[in-house]
Amino acid sequence: MKTAIITGGSRGIGEAMVMKLGEMGYNVVINYRSDSSKALSEALIKKLAEQYGVKGIAVQADVSKYEDCQKLVEAAVTEFGTKIDVLINNAGITNNSAFCKLEKDSYMHVLETNLISAFHMCHFVVPYMVEANEGCVINVSSIGGLMGVINQADYCASKSGLIGMTRALALEFAGQNIRFNCICPGMIWTDMLRGVNQDELQALAATIPMGKIGDVEDISGAMEFLINNKYMTGQYVSPNGGIFMP
Ligand code: NAD
Repeated sequence: MKTAIITGGSRGIGEAMVMKLGEMGYNVVINYRSDSSKALSEALIKKLAEQYGVKGIAVQADVSKYEDCQKLVEAAVTEFGTKIDVLINNAGITNNSAFCKLEKDSYMHVLETNLISAFHMCHFVVPYMVEANEGCVINVSSIGGLMGVINQADYCASKSGLIGMTRALALEFAGQNIRFNCICPGMIWTDMLRGVNQDELQALAATIPMGKIGDVEDISGAMEFLINNKYMTGQYVSPNGGIFMP
């Protein structure tokens, strides 16, 4: 049986990825922070078992904290063994704030949640992948990592940082059969977008060439492609409705 760890898997894009991983036959390790996301994660684990016959565990972990990432990986190893096949660094937040109004704690929190967490998770998981001489890491970045977005300096910096980290690690571990790739979603319907000013959102949505905001399945489909394509490393795929073309 294969094992995947995914951060931020209780809802939104992460939830769709958890279900896709189950469909692909993976046992899945999910983290949660609050009591409400604990309930969501446990419901998801039940659904995984019922629909796909795979196992899941939910572990309390704030991935912006080094010790919590260690705890999450240790729980995965205790439950499923040291062979961790897939790591998805998906947890992310945004401030959507004018730069001069941003407090230090707020931008640090975005950088720690979106970027530093991926360092922590890779720090604990990659040695097991080296041991197995195999592994696949997917970092969920954003079109914000590829282009500037107003009021999102901290978010864009964190997401560009993920792309840089992905490329460097892809090179470092290519010879050990460990692949690192990014997904850079465009606008996708989740709680993250529900929190953004709706007038700004409508204006942005009107600029999407395909004329619509994407669905979470557009992103879990990209994840499946990156897991299955064994020659892809150091790349990003960007399901974005045509809003950004490199
Ligand atoms: P969401 O708000 O629905 O889900 C975010 C998940 O991350 C939640 O499960 C939340 O509990 C978890 N999380 C946040 N901070 C955490 C922390 N410190 N520790 C542990 N878990 C934490 O958002 P989403 O839209 O599903 O976003 C998923 C990823 O996709 C994020 O990295 C986001 O930046 C990225 N993304 C989303 C969009 C979009 O339009 N929705 C676009 C581009 C990129």
